[in-house]
Amino acid sequence: MAMRREADARSCDVAGCDEVSERSLNIKQVVDTGMSLKDPEARTVHLCREHYKEYKKISKSSRKLDSIY
Ligand SMILES: [Zn+2]
Repeated sequence: MAMRREADARSCDVAGCDEVSERSLNIKQVVDTGMSLKDPEARTVHLCREHYKEYKKISKSSRKLDSIY
């Protein structure tokens, strides 16, 4: 909460979602989860709270990410 800066507020980059984003991630991490994005060309993906939760859930269940890094 304390780090919140309204000037930086952006909407979530997941297709069909207009929530305010809370996190930004490298697009490769997000594409790996199979989530569909508004702008697949972007380097950074902004996720709202709900989609970040979803992202974490998906990425946790795939061991693929661990083996790459
Ligand atoms: Zn969202």
